[in-house]
Amino acid sequence: MNTSRRSFMVVSIGMSAALWLTRARADAPHLSESDPAAVAVGYKEDAAQVDKAKYSNFAPGQTCANCSLYEGKSSDAWGGCSLFSGKLVAGRGWCASYTNM
Ligand code: SF4
Repeated sequence: MNTSRRSFMVVSIGMSAALWLTRARADAPHLSESDPAAVAVGYKEDAAQVDKAKYSNFAPGQTCANCSLYEGKSSDAWGGCSLFSGKLVAGRGWCASYTNM
């Protein structure tokens, strides 16, 4: 097999794997607010519902979509989070582990 054909095959396999991973992630279940791991950090799908008395570190404008742990694009309604492997969090959500970008 010549080098250009081998390179083409490597690139094709890499692109297929990336597409598969993207689809697998998009199909991941949404994190439930009642999931014990979510409860532990006060996760809410809607940041407006955060218990501000309990989580005084919450600041208006903070959402999953602008948290450094969010693995989606800031415009995505749902995306991965490095805290909750295998589940998607709401882009407009929030939890106490929020980290500024
Ligand atoms: Fe959202 Fe960030 Fe909490 Fe993950 S760590 S749930 S992205 S606020």
